[in-house]
Amino acid sequence: MSAIDRPAGRKRHDRDMVYRWECRCQDPPVLLATYEPNGRINIKVRDRYWHVIGSVRAICPKCGADHLLDLSGNASRDATRIAR
Ligand SMILES: [Zn+2]
Repeated sequence: MSAIDRPAGRKRHDRDMVYRWECRCQDPPVLLATYEPNGRINIKVRDRYWHVIGSVRAICPKCGADHLLDLSGNASRDATRIAR
């Protein structure tokens, strides 16, 4: 297990830069996960968060749609398009 500690100031900045990965099958949209510009995907599973680097696939719990979020490389813009 490895941990990367970062200054509190940087952490707060990251929180401000979090994007929502969501399924827009209903209003309000179903939140699948959140992700950051640096490519880290944050998934809340019950009482803990999973931090994923790269790509992750999720099924919308409401409509069953298959979503793929790929943040490997410099593809955050494409990921937004795929999530729709
Ligand atoms: Zn959905």
